[in-house]
Amino acid sequence: MTVRKAIGRAWIGIAAALALASGAAAGPSEKVSFSIIKTGDRLSPESMLFQGGGKAKVEVVYSAILVRHGGQDFLFDTGLGARIDDQYARDMPGWKRRFFYYDKPIVPARAQLAKAGVPAVRRIVLSHSHWDHASGVVDFPGAEVWVSPPERALIAKAGHGADNVWPSQVGDPRLIWKSIDFSSGPYLGFERSLDVYGDGTVVLVPQYGHTAGSVGMFVTTSSGRRFFFCGDTVWSAAAIDAGRPKFWLARTLVDADAGMTLSQVRRMTALHRRDPGLTFVPAHDGRVQARLGYFPAWVE
Ligand SMILES: [Zn+2]
Repeated sequence: MTVRKAIGRAWIGIAAALALASGAAAGPSEKVSFSIIKTGDRLSPESMLFQGGGKAKVEVVYSAILVRHGGQDFLFDTGLGARIDDQYARDMPGWKRRFFYYDKPIVPARAQLAKAGVPAVRRIVLSHSHWDHASGVVDFPGAEVWVSPPERALIAKAGHGADNVWPSQVGDPRLIWKSIDFSSGPYLGFERSLDVYGDGTVVLVPQYGHTAGSVGMFVTTSSGRRFFFCGDTVWSAAAIDAGRPKFWLARTLVDADAGMTLSQVRRMTALHRRDPGLTFVPAHDGRVQARLGYFPAWVE
């Protein structure tokens, strides 16, 4: 079965997806927390992450965010999954391997959840579908996977490379792909949003640029702490304060639209100035994530 057919067959529809989301909604009094599941890492000079970064090496992490709302868990991204070695061998072109790699060992999210006695999630939201975010999707067969409509179009055309969607990661016909309908109106400077539980605690926004359909996620925990998970729009939170793009070679290789990505960075810069209490969590920023702590620790 082709990837396109598999995805088409699994597609249920926006209305059904939202019906499930709202049908499963819990009240605003539900406890909300998250835990960062670090699946792997590597070191990189900061200068490779954003324009104007220093020479010192910083930790680049590959993480999945486990969001808990009442009794419901979902993953925002999956980090590196159990089959990453095989996926990488199949779909990462040789010449790009010096730029895009991971160190061993890796500890997949599914294995960490199992070890802690946490049931496998049934829902995954992807910030975008690049290899280091979608690798673990196939470790959760039968899960529904939420992506934005433009990202679904990319997934239907899966191919090779660091800036592509890998057939080895999205081709499992047991995955149920759903398009996010940003129907909840403007939110904190974003024109559109989806309030996942209808209580303002978890809000998805389109953050198109790094990929055609990248998605950001705001989370407000039960204690009132607020976070914005901005995927790969930046690789380092330091780039937000400075309003800087990625290192030029990196943005050439991985940003689908570098200009639009920089606009998204600057929107975050402005947001941070207006709202200094909001913590930005880029997908790969080991400094920010280590400060928050890793699974099985929770941020409440
Ligand atoms: Zn990434």
